[in-house]
Amino acid sequence: MVDNFMKKLFKVLILLNSLSLMAFVPFSGNYVDGSLLKSESGVTRPAYSDQILVMEELQKKYPKIVSVIHYGDSIGARKLMGLLIKSPAPLLTSRLSVITGAIHGNEYLNIVDRLAKGLIEHKSKQLDSYLARGGSLFIIPVVNPDGYDRSQRGNMRGADLNRDWPGPGKKYRRTLKHPETKLLSVWLENYLEDNIKLDIAFDYHCCADGMLLLPWGWKRKRYMSEVDQLRSRKYEIMMEKYFDKPGVIGTPPDILYSARGTTLDYWYDKYKAVSFAYEGRFGFEPELLENHISWWNEILSTFKE
Ligand SMILES: [Zn+2]
Repeated sequence: MVDNFMKKLFKVLILLNSLSLMAFVPFSGNYVDGSLLKSESGVTRPAYSDQILVMEELQKKYPKIVSVIHYGDSIGARKLMGLLIKSPAPLLTSRLSVITGAIHGNEYLNIVDRLAKGLIEHKSKQLDSYLARGGSLFIIPVVNPDGYDRSQRGNMRGADLNRDWPGPGKKYRRTLKHPETKLLSVWLENYLEDNIKLDIAFDYHCCADGMLLLPWGWKRKRYMSEVDQLRSRKYEIMMEKYFDKPGVIGTPPDILYSARGTTLDYWYDKYKAVSFAYEGRFGFEPELLENHISWWNEILSTFKE
């Protein structure tokens, strides 16, 4: 009796263990993102109103180069906000890097909200020289503030905002249906209209052990042109350099799951930018801030032409 019970318990434990691992191992099928990855990031987060205060404080401290941009409101009437960092000489700006976080509200990493300060105050001053070369940086720590404050993946309607972007595989469906995605795309479109080039776009997520995801979100194997693959590889090598345990690199269907309508594909398809999504490590990504800052310093140093 006891033996039978122990055997059953053992089987259940093995089953539970394999289910938990499934969230982190590659899927071989055309898997649509679902409940298996609805994990919290394991990081305690401040209220969104405190995130706004942090952005405003940085603007106060560095008024010449930092502006808080309020580009619209969410469904739940929270302000959609980001930090624009650029040279005080307005005519100089010719390029942009975009860094986004928490488009899935429950995936706060405590990295994107500290990157601006970290890069500005880092002794290597790579950000300063990027700005002097015409670079600008738009950092949006929380793309989905309603989901963030409610600790949920989707927005207030429960919609997954990282399936709402136009791009290959999603061209003929209705996209940009939500203010959180629409208003961000409009703001960027206007900003980039002014002969400004999008260098790189980088979307932070959690959690799949430091994975680096490449376009396309819905195609197995790398699908970029040879030139773009080489361009992308440069930044992948940097990650391998700055992280003791760099994660797996590949397209989402190759290493995680298939997804259409992601930022990853949108930036690459619409603006020909270098585009990545990063899947942070559960619980301890905040400890890796210095690694991210070093990685970003080298990333920014490459945009010269
Ligand atoms: Zn995510």
